[in-house]
Amino acid sequence: MLRPFPEPRAAYVHVPFCVHRCGYCDFTVVAGKDRLIPAYLDALEIELEALGTPRPVDTLFVGGGTPTHLPPKDLSRLLNLIRYWFPPSPAAEFSVEANPADLDHKRVEVLANHGVNRISLGVQAFDEQTLQLLERDHRQADIERSWNLVRQYFENVSLDLIFGVPGQTLETWKQTLDAAAALQPTHVSTYGLTYEKGTRFWSRRKKGELVAAAENLETEMYALSMETWTAAGLEQYEISSFTRPGFRCRHNQVYWQGLGYWACGPGAARYVNGRRETNHRSMTTWIQRLQQGLSPVDDFEELSPADRARELIVLGLRRCDGIDAAEFLAQTGFELRSLEPHAWQRHLATGFLEETETGRIRLTKAGRFVADSVIVDFL
Ligand code: SF4
Repeated sequence: MLRPFPEPRAAYVHVPFCVHRCGYCDFTVVAGKDRLIPAYLDALEIELEALGTPRPVDTLFVGGGTPTHLPPKDLSRLLNLIRYWFPPSPAAEFSVEANPADLDHKRVEVLANHGVNRISLGVQAFDEQTLQLLERDHRQADIERSWNLVRQYFENVSLDLIFGVPGQTLETWKQTLDAAAALQPTHVSTYGLTYEKGTRFWSRRKKGELVAAAENLETEMYALSMETWTAAGLEQYEISSFTRPGFRCRHNQVYWQGLGYWACGPGAARYVNGRRETNHRSMTTWIQRLQQGLSPVDDFEELSPADRARELIVLGLRRCDGIDAAEFLAQTGFELRSLEPHAWQRHLATGFLEETETGRIRLTKAGRFVADSVIVDFL
């Protein structure tokens, strides 16, 4: 018999404010509209109240946008609201995304005083040229300053880095990796730059103003990430994620295991009782609907059991631990290899997938370089 959907034990809250929109950014962001902060917080309170009763969680993640762009008083109100409606269990992981440019003592103190215990710092690069091309508003000096500041309060600090940026060379990427490794972070996420439709980078590439990095250069950069982080004592546990032992991001693991999670804020997506709902991405629509007593949900889907099983394969293959066939059967009701049997056979034969002695199927190291083309065969 299939397991019923348990009540989520994870929550995500989206804070959409940023100083400006970076050219590659496809997130739900409002730039230069800080006057909307009070209305955002009021609307968030209405959305949270609709939960009816506080929902205890083991992981909380406040992302954006730039949550730390909020002035300290507003940041404090936000965190109080979140902690009331999603009371964290004693050993909960409580992450907040932060940008090097706007972190100051006051804000970091507010985070620490409200029980935040993990910071995800959006560093992206350590060289000025790449930071400027990405249109980030922080500079090298901000990284050092903000790192020293957060480390005074938090042990668990993750860094986000981007490779495959136009103009970035293997040498400049190596400089970024080495500079990041010298800081000895507990966790690192390295992402290849993508060009999402609707972003400035998308149109600039179309016009020929930006030239995407060559595929073989991106492959070399990814290989260098793996090499650097392994040498620095971090374990790769997901396609883009590396961690010191004991510091895996528990919140992201909820997503990758196909478990449920609450979510609030404009554009936020939740997965509760097998139903996926996404809020309106437009900040003003989201606020207005909540003010008028209407649902902030723009879109929803309930996956069929087979689609849910396929999604679990896609998510599970991103994890270096791979998929446990027995666990998969219990969670979905499907034999793992009964879905797309030819794709399993083909990728096991080509060596992009492997089966471990304990019955898990996972990407091999070679498979991680072509993960997208392997995973697409299970959709
Ligand atoms: S700081 Fe992050 S969220 Fe804000 S615009 Fe830039 S990439 Fe997007």
